[in-house]
Amino acid sequence: MDDKTKLLKSIPGVERLRAREPFLWLNPELRPAANALQELELGLADIEDADARLRRFAPALAKLFPDTRARGGVIESELYSIQGMRPLIAGRYGIEARGTLLLKADHALPVAGSVKARGGIYEVLCLAEKLALEHGIIRINEPYTGLLSKKARQLFERYTVSVGSTGNLGLSIGVTAAAFGFKAAVHMSAEARLWKRRLLASRGVTIVMYEGDYSSAVKAGREAAQGDPFAYFVDDENSRLLFLGYSVAALRLREQLAAMRIAVDGTHPLLVYIPCGVGGAPGGIGFGLKTVFGDAAHCFLCEPVEAPCVMLGMLAGFDKDLSICDIGLTLRTQADGLAVSKASPFAGKMIRHLVSGCITVNDDDLFRFVHLLDRGTGMRIEPSAAAGFMGMVTLYSSAEGESYRRAHRLDDTGGGDLIWTTGGSLVPSREWEGYRARGEELCRS
Ligand SMILES: *Cc1c(COP(=O)(O)O)cnc(C)c1O
Repeated sequence: MDDKTKLLKSIPGVERLRAREPFLWLNPELRPAANALQELELGLADIEDADARLRRFAPALAKLFPDTRARGGVIESELYSIQGMRPLIAGRYGIEARGTLLLKADHALPVAGSVKARGGIYEVLCLAEKLALEHGIIRINEPYTGLLSKKARQLFERYTVSVGSTGNLGLSIGVTAAAFGFKAAVHMSAEARLWKRRLLASRGVTIVMYEGDYSSAVKAGREAAQGDPFAYFVDDENSRLLFLGYSVAALRLREQLAAMRIAVDGTHPLLVYIPCGVGGAPGGIGFGLKTVFGDAAHCFLCEPVEAPCVMLGMLAGFDKDLSICDIGLTLRTQADGLAVSKASPFAGKMIRHLVSGCITVNDDDLFRFVHLLDRGTGMRIEPSAAAGFMGMVTLYSSAEGESYRRAHRLDDTGGGDLIWTTGGSLVPSREWEGYRARGEELCRS
């Protein structure tokens, strides 16, 4: 028996993962937010700095991307109350949650139509800003109009921005990089949908396809960029910048909650359910939420039963370089945005003591929620983005969920649930209708 096999045999939760059983794992290493945050290398000042950078870029983004103009170039999504979904969910899953039910609509973020519009775009902007400052094209305290000048384009087109992606990150990075004039290359794994490849190709982005899984596409992309001073690789498995881009969501959410007069505090806890791939997006958002709301925010990461790489990292340690293939899982999930075999060790280190738990979900339930959400609200999400709904159902229908709610006295308070929907608005109608019809069919069984 090799070391990995031995290690995996000794960890109880791994057996449940191996069995592809949907379940909630509660994090025994959850700590009070103030205590956990204090030890991290990033903090509120970094989140605010990222927010300020995004705002400096807003006028340029408004020019490049018409769908950001309504908010003056700030990339943000709506926060909705979806109380009407409660009876639909109760009807199907029999859970009796009563509090406020909110939906954070990152499935409709401008530019990229997914949560990747937060992290991916932010990292490209950091590169553009750094190069333009170095070459005297912009100055930090003056409007960034020079970014769209001919001189800037001539500078940017000497660089190639590349990334490994199952689809959505590639869309976000590829579209943004190409809009500023960078050359862009996206290394894609087998899960990548054809329409995403076509859309990227139409923006002049180079696409490299791989037979292997996401992790091998990232590795190949990373190696291709190595040693080339004009190559910039966005490393989804390690990037601090992606993480910070995602974390800004928490500042924006705080404003939106205040505008809706929804309190989040000791007597009004907010349970947040976020779909999870490598852990960067939900980790960054979760880190932001804990920084802004402290212990009043409870974060749950939701993964497909076939791709629970972050839960595996939480169970066995993120430093072990484990893949879900090491425990016999296959990555065969229709949730292409979450079809990831290895977690980000950086995200893992950041969220270790901040997330309340991880939840695995079945594909069938993802399709069901694509349908139910359409029925209840008319919103169009992709299967990956439905994982949060099932996360909430699990919290209210499992023994582990009950024990968490009891330990944190959640049922005695006036709190709420927030489902983070992470992608879908760019999915072509026919493709989306296929998801929905399948979900409707499954709801009958
Ligand atoms: C990428 C993605 C996620 C998760 O983000 P990670 O950083 O990979 O954890 C969730 N939902 C959708 C739709 C995505 O594309």
